[in-house]
Amino acid sequence: MAYNITLIPGDGIGADVSTAARRCVEATGVKINWDIQEAGADVIGKYGTPLPAGVLASIRKNKIALKGPLTTPIGTGFRSVNVAIRKELDLYACLRPCKSFKGVRSKYENIDLVVVRENTEDLYAGIEFEEGKPETGNLIREIESLSKKKINPDSGISIKPISISGSKRIVKFGFEYAIKHGRKKVTAISKANIMKYTDGLFFAAAREVAKEYEGKIEYEERLIDNMCMQLVQKPELYDVLVLPNLYGDILSDLCAGLIGGLGIAPGANIGEGLAVFEAIHGSAPKYAGLNKVNPVAMILSAVLMLDYLGEKQAAKRLENAVAKVIAEGKSVTYDLKPHRDDPTAVGTSQMADAIISAL
Ligand code: NAD
Repeated sequence: MAYNITLIPGDGIGADVSTAARRCVEATGVKINWDIQEAGADVIGKYGTPLPAGVLASIRKNKIALKGPLTTPIGTGFRSVNVAIRKELDLYACLRPCKSFKGVRSKYENIDLVVVRENTEDLYAGIEFEEGKPETGNLIREIESLSKKKINPDSGISIKPISISGSKRIVKFGFEYAIKHGRKKVTAISKANIMKYTDGLFFAAAREVAKEYEGKIEYEERLIDNMCMQLVQKPELYDVLVLPNLYGDILSDLCAGLIGGLGIAPGANIGEGLAVFEAIHGSAPKYAGLNKVNPVAMILSAVLMLDYLGEKQAAKRLENAVAKVIAEGKSVTYDLKPHRDDPTAVGTSQMADAIISAL
């Protein structure tokens, strides 16, 4: 059987890394009918928007997409095209596994963390009021009257909604991921001591969910500031980390840093029956079309996709091939060489060739 999968090559370095990932997936022998969808800065002239309607329709139809990075050009009406896709499709769980690969220069070894970030609520909800606008003044006066607290009149306001239902479903996702992937512990993270009615609610909801998994998966809580220090000092103590949107955004970059950077950090955005797989990194416009950047983050995002499809063997083989090529350190891109101007660095497509040969 062949899978129908939406492929959004993206813009900037998107074409280079998504071609590499597509070739690697095809080389595993898993049969896929790719439904290729244009999006991003390069198609605004053609469609009048970086996110043509056909893109979302294709993902809704196929239920699964592999996506390259998309630039959000200023003045398109989008805060971020990528956030718009997640919101439109209610892809509430952002999954970012961070695993060390032998051969990547990093201060840390044997990192094996999974960040599960809530994707739809929190300060990312985009509910903002600009400083100086009449409605902002009205809001400030209303809040002052309700809370009996003073807000500087020259303030901008961003709203942080966190719901019981949104918190429960992301924590449940974290526990289910832990069960399915043989993980031992889930750590819920927030700043509940300061924001009692949002972050405190997140912990309360997490505790409720954790009860269902008692005896199967360990559960603990950490405050976000302490967690940042703990991850830098003793990351080996942690396993699956579940966080509200903004903390999750920051912590997943911290974890990507622990394993050696954006070039090797994969991701997925998952909702009810829909999933979009994409690297953490962006479109790095200065490297567009140069066949230069590291394809591994995108290839490992495709590994997550194969795993999600239930193609466990193909996923494992592809991950092992990536690990082998990185460990050898020969056919790797500039960022994986000891020096960035190393003349022995290979291009994006040549690294993909090496990975395919190692399968
Ligand atoms: P970026 O991730 O595109 O690039 C930052 C730097 O990281 C690059 O200059 C490069 O040095 C390095 N880098 C990134 N990917 C790499 C790779 N595969 N191999 C080697 N090095 C790599 O971040 P940015 O410059 O902040 O964003 C550029 C554009 O991308 C913006 O328009 C932003 O909105 C968009 N963006 C998109 C996504 C997404 O599609 N999910 C994510 C982040 C940013």
